[in-house]
Amino acid sequence: LFAQSRKVAITVDDLPYAATADEADAGFVADLANRRLIESLRTHHAAVTGFVVQKYAEALGTSAGTNLLMRWTAAGFDLGNHTYSHPDLKDLSEEQFEQEVVRDEGVIGTLMSEGGRKLTYFRFPFNSTGDTRDKHDRANAFLKQRGYDLAACTIDTSDFVFNRTYVRMLDDNDGPAAQRLREAYLEHTNAEIDYYAALNRKVLGYQPPEVMLLHDNRLNGDVIDDILRLFEAKGYEFVSLHEAQSDPAYRQPDTYITAFGPMWGYRWAAERNIKVDGRLKPEPPEWISEYAAR
Ligand SMILES: [Zn+2]
Repeated sequence: LFAQSRKVAITVDDLPYAATADEADAGFVADLANRRLIESLRTHHAAVTGFVVQKYAEALGTSAGTNLLMRWTAAGFDLGNHTYSHPDLKDLSEEQFEQEVVRDEGVIGTLMSEGGRKLTYFRFPFNSTGDTRDKHDRANAFLKQRGYDLAACTIDTSDFVFNRTYVRMLDDNDGPAAQRLREAYLEHTNAEIDYYAALNRKVLGYQPPEVMLLHDNRLNGDVIDDILRLFEAKGYEFVSLHEAQSDPAYRQPDTYITAFGPMWGYRWAAERNIKVDGRLKPEPPEWISEYAAR
C-alpha cells in the first residue's frame, strides 16, 4: 500500500531532439526517437511535459522541427520553455537571458494555446539556476513576471553520457556493444531512482512526488518502455508536473545559489542544513566514457 502512493512526473528535455555533435542523419533519427517516445509514454498513461529548445527545432528544418513538436501536443503532452539556444545562465547577461526566454516562446506558445493550454513551465538549461544571488534573483523575477513556474527535477540518470557512446556504437554497427550499453543504462537508471528516492526521504522526512529528467535522444527512444516499466515495478504512479509540484516541497521558492545544476534533493538539503553524502550516488560505468573517447 505504501508503494502505491509513490508518484513521478516524467519530463523530457531538449525537444524536439538532442542530437550529439557528430550524429549523422539527425532528421531521420529524430523522427524515429520521437515516435517511440510519444507512443510509449502514451501507452503507459504518463502525463509528460517536454522542454523545447527552439534552435534545435530549427536545426532539423523549421517545419520538420515544428511538426515533431506538434506531435507532442497532439498526444496531449505539455510543452515548456527551455530557452532558445540552451546557454548556461552563468554565461549570460540579464538582457541576454531575457532574450533567450522570449525567443523560445513563439512556436511553443502557439502550439500550447492551439491546444487550449497555457505555457506555464520554464526549466533552466543544465539546471543552472544562478551562480550569484543577484543573477539567481533577477532571472527568477523575470520568469515570474512573464507568468512562468520553475520546473524542478529530482531524478536524473546521466542519459546524455550514455547516449553519446550509444550513438557512436550504432555508427560503428557494433550491435553487441549497443545491447550491453542499453542494459547498463537501465541498471544505472534503476539505481538512480532508488538513490534519489532515499535522498529525498532523508531530507524531507517523506518521499515527495518525484520529477524524472530525461532527454529527447536516441537511447531513450530505444529504451523508454523499459524505463517506464522500472517505475511501474517500484509502485510509482505517473502524474503531471503540475500535480507533482503541488507538493509543499516544491512550493517554497528555490533559493540555493550554485554554479552547478544539482537535483532538487541536494538543494532541499542545503536549504535545510542537512548533510548528504554525494559520493553514494551511482555513476555510469567507466567503460561507457572510455568507449566514446577511443
Ligand atoms: Zn537541456
